Amino acid sequence: MTPDEFRARAHEVIDWIADYMRTVEDRPVLSQVKPGDISAMLPAQPPEHSEPWDRILGDLDTIVQPGLTHWQSPSFFGYFPANSSGPAILGDLVSSGLGVQGMLWSTSPACTEIETTMLDWLARMIGLPESMMSHGAGGGVLQGTASEAALVSLLAARAQRDHPDQPTVYCSSQAHSSIMKAAMISGLGKDAVRLIDVDESLRMDVPSLDRQLRSDVESGHSPLFVCATVGTTSSGAIDPVEQIAAVSQQHNCWLHVDAAWAGSACVCPEHRDLLNGVEAADSFNFNPHKWMLTTFDCSALWVRNRKPLLDALSIMPEYLRNQASETGAVIDYRDWQIPLGRRFRALKLWFVIRHYGVEGIRAHIRRGVELAQLFESLVRDDDRFELAAARSLGLVCFRLRGDDSANEELLAKINASGRAFFTHTRLPHPMNPSESQFVIRAAIGAIKTEERHIRSAWELIQTTAGAIQR
Ligand code: PLP
Repeated sequence: MTPDEFRARAHEVIDWIADYMRTVEDRPVLSQVKPGDISAMLPAQPPEHSEPWDRILGDLDTIVQPGLTHWQSPSFFGYFPANSSGPAILGDLVSSGLGVQGMLWSTSPACTEIETTMLDWLARMIGLPESMMSHGAGGGVLQGTASEAALVSLLAARAQRDHPDQPTVYCSSQAHSSIMKAAMISGLGKDAVRLIDVDESLRMDVPSLDRQLRSDVESGHSPLFVCATVGTTSSGAIDPVEQIAAVSQQHNCWLHVDAAWAGSACVCPEHRDLLNGVEAADSFNFNPHKWMLTTFDCSALWVRNRKPLLDALSIMPEYLRNQASETGAVIDYRDWQIPLGRRFRALKLWFVIRHYGVEGIRAHIRRGVELAQLFESLVRDDDRFELAAARSLGLVCFRLRGDDSANEELLAKINASGRAFFTHTRLPHPMNPSESQFVIRAAIGAIKTEERHIRSAWELIQTTAGAIQR
């Protein structure tokens, strides 16, 4: 493809994406295909000869579109938002256009230095301590996902303690499964993980953490890694980081704070208290690719001290040796992550922060929180429904009063309608915490969601519930 051909085709692709953005609202949110429908439309053999571009692009409409669940739809309320925005898409496009591989500072200094600066900008935007910025002993790095951030933090914790005997890991029963997965991948294994009980607000119960740590020490284990979650996946619960830090320090544990979703909210001063105690954390992570307008993948990780991370992950084969690395004066981000290679991810963040400004990003977060407040009030005003947990920022957990099967049917019917999309979780039953109940989650914060989408989703929920109860 010559540069001129590329220019012409790129214009068509950008037009296609812009049309998609304009019309995404009119499409059924949940893909309506059955398993195998999409692969059945693809030839079993790759093409031997070049195909015309019109046919390739045409297949986006005939093959790809039907198989999409529209994450950018204003009526997508599932999981957590995965904001994609114009500036982020263009940043990713430039990154692909440049095709640089930023494993070492010397393989593209701009890739490293813009990333370092973006992580410092983000740290300032959400109020992280100076110690996590690049001029101190710590610093930030972009990982692909929060799962990788948790894994590399765990590996750093283990390196810092020089591979202790029978290491153990602590997180609440509501923590994300990526913590368990990190223990599995690192070789510590599932049995090393202690799922700590939660209080009635679904926050980690600190006395239970303390008891578990003491009992593990008594039985010869080495408590290694504690993960506090700021904004749990199921209900958005905020673990008390400050108290968790105090207990973790007594046992010389590494404290990781997983704020994958809620971290973006800290760009607003009124939500900064979510991070109280974070100055005692060894690592902190949040995903701009969730709620901060930055297209997947972009997960920001900071450490208070980079040495253990480098001890865990550095290795220098001959073919990567270069003068800049030898001086020790540059950052080689390959030493801060699992893979060697890395894309120029910081470009999209740079574009996003400059296009919206911090003020614009705050406005986006505040709109999501306000719309969630509206949704919460609609739930409260209808006696047939109840809130299953206190609203957390943009997340509302609710259910139809009654048994799980009615709620399961309600969710299935709403999603099958294609007019809105929600996902579910199970939360401890308020009357009997040893049992759980089925709960529907409304995760609000898509870029295009407006009040009318919230009201029409709620009407859909109400009429669907009416039909079930009749
Ligand atoms: N931690 C929390 C609290 C999450 O909610 C999620 C995903 O929703 C993750 C970690 C995992 O995120 P990722 O897909 O970036 O690994």
